[in-house]
Amino acid sequence: MSVFVIFGPPGSGKGTQAELLSKNLSLIHISVGDLLRTEISKKTELGTMAEEVINKGELLPDGVILEIVKSFLEHNKMRDVLLDGFPRTVAQANGLLKIMDEFGLGLPNIITLEIDSEEILKRLLLRAKIEDRADDTEKVIKKRIEVYFSQTEPVLEYFKTVRIPVSRINGVGDINDIQYEILDKI
Ligand code: AMP
Repeated sequence: MSVFVIFGPPGSGKGTQAELLSKNLSLIHISVGDLLRTEISKKTELGTMAEEVINKGELLPDGVILEIVKSFLEHNKMRDVLLDGFPRTVAQANGLLKIMDEFGLGLPNIITLEIDSEEILKRLLLRAKIEDRADDTEKVIKKRIEVYFSQTEPVLEYFKTVRIPVSRINGVGDINDIQYEILDKI
């Protein structure tokens, strides 16, 4: 089993690239955000908790997210998988490495999409008009960007410290060109 991670700020195109990559490499793809939105629509206990946190632009507790990812990895041991929207904190990144070690897996293959904060804001405001996501209001978007830079971006520094290579990809450009660059780098 190989574990791929697609990383990057909100609006960097993670979801789009993850879908293409999972098709191109026959990976089982989990988007933690999509999974949480499904829980919200099913009105489960997790969904009720997630809705409140997501609508504020904040992150769910690391323990809850790590349980979800661990169970996903456990159920897909025979396949190669792609994690999208995880890890989002250093504690989640550390938890992932521990789970992978426990399951006897090698190191994760990390891809990060790079895009500056002005472009992020522009894209998310545009997406807010097209999709009807409750967390795409300007106030929540700004909060999500702040959370990304304060809690999520430090994950890249963490991977550097533990000597896990990260493939850096420019997230601005043609969707297919970006995908070719990802395939070329991994
Ligand atoms: P996304 O669709 O990836 O932008 O995720 C939407 C929202 O779900 C985020 O703003 C968070 O509130 C929550 N979420 C998704 N992934 C995680 C994660 N790994 N850790 C904590 N919260 C998450």
